[in-house]
Formats: sequence, C-alpha cells, structure tokens
Amino acid sequence: MTLREAYEYGQGELKLAGIEDAAVDAWYLLEFVTGISRAMYFLNMQEKMSGEQEEVYRSYIERRASHIPLQHITGVQEFMGLEFCVNEHVLVPRQDTEILVESVLDVLEPGMKVLDMCTGSGCILISLLKHSQPEGCQPVCSQFKNRQSACGQLAIDENNVSGVGVDVSEEALQVARKNRDKIGVQAELIQSDLFENVSGRYDIIVSNPPYIRTAVIEELKEEVKFHDPFLALDGKEDGLYFYRKIVEKSPEFLNQGGKLCFEIGHDQGEVVKRLMEEAGFVGVTIKKDLAGLDRVVFGKYNMKEKF
Ligand code: GLN
Repeated sequence: MTLREAYEYGQGELKLAGIEDAAVDAWYLLEFVTGISRAMYFLNMQEKMSGEQEEVYRSYIERRASHIPLQHITGVQEFMGLEFCVNEHVLVPRQDTEILVESVLDVLEPGMKVLDMCTGSGCILISLLKHSQPEGCQPVCSQFKNRQSACGQLAIDENNVSGVGVDVSEEALQVARKNRDKIGVQAELIQSDLFENVSGRYDIIVSNPPYIRTAVIEELKEEVKFHDPFLALDGKEDGLYFYRKIVEKSPEFLNQGGKLCFEIGHDQGEVVKRLMEEAGFVGVTIKKDLAGLDRVVFGKYNMKEKF
C-alpha cells in the first residue's frame, strides 16, 4: 500500500463510520504511524509503506472507526503548547479549558500557591506551573516577563509558583504524575475526595470539575460518553454538585484575598456566580470562550468582609 492509498483508505473508512473529522484523524494516524510530515507526504505519497506500518495503520483506523477517541490511540493530547499523556482514566484535555488556564496566568504572581481540584491528567496545574517557570518554556504571564526583565536574570526558587493537584482517582493521578515528570514541573499530586485530604491555604484554587447533568451524558457523542471517564463528566442531577461542594469548602483553604476560578458549562455562568457571591466571594466575573459562550467564572474571597 502506498502512503496515498493508506491515507485514502483511512479517510474512507472513517467517513463510512460517521467520524466527524475523518480526514484530519486519518492524517494524524498516518503521521503517528509513519512519522511523516505533511510536506514529505506530498513529495513521497507514491512510496510504499512497510508491511508492519500498514498493519498498524489499519488497526488504528479500525479502532478510530469504532469511535475510540484519537487521543486514546495516540496516547497524547496537546494543551497550552505542551504534550500531555492521556488514557481512559482521564478526561482528554479540551481546548476550551485553555481559557481557564490563561485567566489564572493573568493573576498568578511569583511565590503563589495553587490548588487544582479534580486535576485529572494534570493539564491545568502543570500548564500553570510550566508557563510561570522563569526558565524553560517562554513565560506567557506578564508578571513573570516583568520579573525577568526587571532583574535581568532568572528568579530564585522560592519565588516559583507551587502547586498541588487533587483527584479522587488514583488511576488519574498516575497519569498526572507521568505528565508532571515528563513536562518537568514540581507539583504535589494527592488522592482526595474533594478537600478530604487537603491541608494548608492557597492563593488560587482552580477547578474544571465534572459539570454535565447525568441525564445529558446519554446525549453526548460516543467518544465522550463511552470513553471519557464517567466520573470526570458527571456533575450529578443538576450538574452543579461539585461547584456547590467546592464553593462551600474553599474559603477554609484560601488565603486572604485568594481567588477561586472555575471552568463552567455554557449555561452555568449565572448560577455559579450566584453560588460564589452567596458564599462571600466578591468581584465575581464570568468570562466567555472563543465561541462567545460563558466558560470561566472567578472571584475573590474576602474574609474581612464576611467575618
Ligand atoms: N482538570 C482536568 C481537565 O480539565 C480534568 C477535569 C475533569 O476530570 N472533570 O482536563
């Protein structure tokens, strides 16, 4: 089979199976199996694949045609410019969640402590730590850029942001630990049912908790409802279970003026905002994603105002 024949075969099979982005996925799998770039493909598409490559490609196309997510086949997903390992025990990181990370980077300052509740693959926490590191990948956060240019050298360790990630699933934490070590940040990753095993106080609590109403999970596409972990999707009856729990408990774990930042479903902005205001958060703001839908809610906890 030539590369071109393989690519056409892949696209055809995936289209037939009703896969949304058949051509894109057939290409990614071809790239994954052969390591070929788009430019090299066009130069060499009449070249034959090895028997082994053909066999592997066919098996991957077959798996994708049965609606196994692409990322479960390749084992990776890019998020915030970093490559995260994923498997069936974690939610595949979504591009929408980058808005949450960017919102936190905007307020993150050197030396702050961050808690990521329901960390899953660790994509939120690890991106925050990586992008606020004074060395390695280019800091995207203005505070950190200033800090570098102001002193003309890289900042000292105690000024680094420190992070704790929490998940109820030990299998998810294994993935998060692998990502932490691969991407090269320091983070504590602890097993805990919400705040049960958490101690200390934080400057920022960030969370993309499960927020889909149980009844709606049934209506999601196969890739999500059968392959993302149910635990990572299910926000129980009204989808708000975890927001209520996290809003109620986070004041005990926030420093004075600390911030709580959530990703939310497109129709949950106002209700989560209200929950936070009722619990003593101030300046509660809803932020939209690139599609113009409510995506992030954040606010500041003001202990003085409350007590
Ligand atoms: N925090 C992880 C993510 O955003 C996991 C979220 C979840 O499991 N609901 O991908």
